[in-house]
Parts: sequence; structure tokens; C-alpha cells
Amino acid sequence: MMNLSTMIAYGYRHCTPPIKQLLNYTTFLHLHHHHHHLQGRPLSFNSLNLPNLNLLLTGNCLFFRMQRFWIGNGINKNKQMVEHLQRYGVISSIKVAEVMETIDRALFVPDGASAYADSPMAIGYNATISAPHMHATCLQLLEQNLQPGMHALDVGSGTGYLTACFAIMVGPQGRAVGVEHIPELVASSIKNIEKSAAAPLLKEGSLSVHAGDGRQGWPECAPYDAIHVGAAAPEIPQALLDQLKPGGRMVIPVGNMFQDLKVVDKNMDGSISIRSETSVRYVPLTSRDAQLRGY
Ligand code: SAH
Repeated sequence: MMNLSTMIAYGYRHCTPPIKQLLNYTTFLHLHHHHHHLQGRPLSFNSLNLPNLNLLLTGNCLFFRMQRFWIGNGINKNKQMVEHLQRYGVISSIKVAEVMETIDRALFVPDGASAYADSPMAIGYNATISAPHMHATCLQLLEQNLQPGMHALDVGSGTGYLTACFAIMVGPQGRAVGVEHIPELVASSIKNIEKSAAAPLLKEGSLSVHAGDGRQGWPECAPYDAIHVGAAAPEIPQALLDQLKPGGRMVIPVGNMFQDLKVVDKNMDGSISIRSETSVRYVPLTSRDAQLRGY
């Protein structure tokens, strides 16, 4: 059995400011026994009985009551999810609310999963789709750098959900690029996007997803106004700093066991300013071999 410090929840705000605490609950997932049958399940109570998972969780009881309320009343709709995030102060931006309403999260989670629960979810290959409140937080931090015509890079694009949101925000004159190192996830993310409101952008070429090591960025469409990294880096990759435009912003979880969501601004003179937004838990930004070890 693992001790508390070695347990982890992916794509989560780990500690939150008081105003957002209603959404702050923490799921702990054993790192090395990520079983296939967990795929598509929210990492929550119902995973507890599964053998060998060594799952342990603490929770904000109010949250779980709210979640049961949602499911119990069948209001598990994308719009309600967004309204919920607005009501609890996670989303304050109209633009971010609009894009999250436009891109239906259900198209990006495994079939049968409770798409609208505010929880990260296993998507296979030791990867997860981040919780809606983390997607909202990152979109909001990047909003000024996702204006029409701008260039955005999504490293570790996973399901393609955020890449699709970026593409909608930067529009047909902009460029949204996803880079993901698991080819199967690249393929499924493209299928997801094709079913979504971002499909025309994919077809017309302002949105693309590529298989590759995201630590190298994607030089072809650089420099970027916005870079999002969906996996935790031990340190900020130099290639990503290089591909950030002056005036550009990168949002990246940094750390190993303990991670901070860093907001990295490249100033007009090329200097870099970094601040920590919040504590989070993400899957590691690593090599494909390291990620798939034991999977
Ligand atoms: N934002 C995504 C997060 C997926 S989890 C979503 O919500 O769907 C993080 C993703 O980063 C995983 O899909 C994992 O495969 C990918 N990843 C990890 N290291 C990587 C690397 N070096 N290059 C590209 N992708 C990487």
C-alpha cells in the first residue's frame, strides 16, 4: 500500500484558493497499475472496489453530493457543466464559457463515461483527460493569447479537447496545433474532433494534431502566442520557451510528485517572467517508453 505522499491524481487542481474549494476534491491513483478496465471511468468512488488498483481517495463530500445530484437528476449535460463551473467561480470569462459550451466534452471521453463530472478520467496508455475545472482554468489563463488569428500549441494533447477549444478561439485565420506522443491517441483525438464543432477547422487546416515528442514543440507553426502543456514537466523545456512569441504565454505544470501550474510570460524584450498559479497533479511529460512502462 502506498503512503499518502506517493498517491496522485491527474489533471487536478491539488490545492485551491478558498473561493474554488467546492470543486476541490482529490482522487489518488496508484501510478503503476493503471488497468485497462479503468478506462472511461471517472477516477472516483466506484473504482475503489477494483482489485490491485490501490486507489484511495479523500473527497469534498459536498462535491460528491453535488455529483450524485447531477447524475440522479439526469442533468449531465455539457451546458450545465459549464454553468456549474461559472456558479462556483471557476469560469469568469464569457469567452471561455462559450467555447466550453461549443465543444461538447462527451465527444472526447471514452464511451459510457460520465462526461460531465468534474473529474479527470483515464483514457488509456497511462493518460487522462483533465478535469473540466483544469481545462477551464487553463483556457482562462490563456484567453488573451487565444484571440482570433493567433497561434496556439497544445503539448500532450491527449483527447484533443483543449486543442479543439483553442482552434475555436483562434478561429480559421489562426492556428491550433496539438502534439501527442501516443499515435493511437492522436488517431482517436482526430476522430473526436471530427465529431465536434471544431471539425471544419480541422478540415480547412487551421487545426492539426501530430504524433511527436511535445518536449520539442512544433517548430513548423512557431512562434506561438499560447502554449499549453497538458503533462507535468520536470523543468520547462527550452524548445517550448524558444517557440513562444514575445508577448506570448505558456501554461505548464512543472514538478514531479509536487507540481505547480506555472504561468510563463515572454516579455516583449524576450525576457521571461514565471509565476505559480496553483498546485496540480498531472501525468508526467516524459518519453513514450517511460509512460507505457507497466501499462
Ligand atoms: N489535455 C489533455 C491531457 C492528456 S494527459 C486532455 O485533457 O485530454 C497528458 C498527455 O500528455 C497524455 O496523452 C500523454 O500521452 C501526453 N504526453 C506525455 N509526455 C509527452 C511527450 N513527451 N510528448 C507528447 N505528449 C506527451
